[in-house]
Amino acid sequence: MIEKILANLEKSNCMSDDTFLQAVSEVLHSLEPIVNSDTRYEQFAILERLVTPDRVIQFKVQWVDDHNCVHINNGYRIQFNNSLGPYKGGLRFHPSVTTGVLKFLAFEQIFKNSLTGLPIGGAKGGSDFDPKGKSDFEIMKFCRAYMRELHQYIGARVDVPAGDIGVGNREIGYLFGEYKRITRNYDGVLSGKPYAFGGSLMRPQATGYGVVYFAREMLKEELQESLDGKVCTVSGAGNVAIHTIEKLQQLGAIVVTCSDSEGAIYDPHGIDLALLRHLKDEGKRISLAEYKNSHAHALYTQKSDYPKEAHAVWEIPCFAAFPCATQNELTLNDAQKLIENGCVAVVEGANMPTFPDAIELLQREGVLFSPGKASNAGGVAVSEFEMSQNASMEKWDFDKVDRKLDELMRQIYKRVALTAKEYGCERNFVDGANIAAFKRVAEAMILEGV
Ligand code: NDP
Repeated sequence: MIEKILANLEKSNCMSDDTFLQAVSEVLHSLEPIVNSDTRYEQFAILERLVTPDRVIQFKVQWVDDHNCVHINNGYRIQFNNSLGPYKGGLRFHPSVTTGVLKFLAFEQIFKNSLTGLPIGGAKGGSDFDPKGKSDFEIMKFCRAYMRELHQYIGARVDVPAGDIGVGNREIGYLFGEYKRITRNYDGVLSGKPYAFGGSLMRPQATGYGVVYFAREMLKEELQESLDGKVCTVSGAGNVAIHTIEKLQQLGAIVVTCSDSEGAIYDPHGIDLALLRHLKDEGKRISLAEYKNSHAHALYTQKSDYPKEAHAVWEIPCFAAFPCATQNELTLNDAQKLIENGCVAVVEGANMPTFPDAIELLQREGVLFSPGKASNAGGVAVSEFEMSQNASMEKWDFDKVDRKLDELMRQIYKRVALTAKEYGCERNFVDGANIAAFKRVAEAMILEGV
């Protein structure tokens, strides 16, 4: 049945949907132990419905730059599944954005959101707009133009977008301002808002902190290990990477790497987080090559000097590795290197950063592997906390949000680990996550009818 669904999907999706097909294939193969356990899954065509988005929205975004030149970008919103609650998922502004990439991210989001146990469905959106090198005013003008189209499809009880690559606090602020001007509604239609008007404390930290809370729990339960004093490697230099590094350092780990799309830093003394923030502060995005100017002992490797199938970050010996940049950034070669160097755990902060063959190898060799849909769910969880605070007109303090996040990440780990055990694939957190998430969504789809 699974092969038939995949073949049909390949036929109806073009080549640019590669990442989408990769994500669907991983999930469906994980579900093999469960699909025949309940006849209703076939009767209600749950798998076929689950891999087909409810809605793929595409629109033209027209905006004017600082030199009065007109530009056109593609804007998208993929509303994939709202069985568990309003559509929820980030917006990505990056030139690599296509329908295929967003379909993969929206599909993954259904499972991630289900794992949180919160009432939220799966969606994703964005644009092929490149924020790099744009002035603050150009970013604002683009965000306003984007929202002029998007506003008609979203709502606090309909679809609640948040940030992702290229979309942080600043962009969410501009998007919210335009939504409010058009609709005259001051409601929680976006999450990740600045704290000054409706944002939740800890939303910026949530994904990275959550990744580390998940890792801490997994290491404690599976290996009776802690992160204290351990060398860790992190890729990326954006929101998720920075807050993963911050929490790892707070727990006593020594983080020795970070990277951006042009290169990687190896600092054996431990990454200087204040300097990293200074280089990558919103809007600045200075090259990591500059890191060496203050830390001559650090090593900078230009990405273009590396073969396509290997990445400098994963060559560094470490106890645990945290890919936090983007999809498909940890290859089979990289996995081999990590294993040779004695890495015991790979914890995904980004969405689908590890290639399927690399995951298989890591699992075969006994490396603990946590998929992003489980370990990076802290971001969307705190987004839902923001929706709750907006709906009840409350403001929670930092410690309250932090405690709830920590507890939620522990619950996700438990849910995933127990499900894996129950279905005979102990320590396979990919299968555990997919099965646990699927059961919740499938039940809702059945109960809601067609
Ligand atoms: P940011 O835009 O803040 O940072 C992205 C980082 O990844 C930057 O350092 C960027 O480098 C680097 N990067 C982007 N594209 C590439 C590429 N093709 N090759 C190498 N490096 C690249 O994004 P986030 O930190 O928010 O997101 C990172 C990942 O985490 C994504 O997969 C996202 O979907 C996922 N995620 C994010 C959540 C959030 O709350 N923000 C929630 C859950 C998942 P450069 O600056 O040079 O482009």
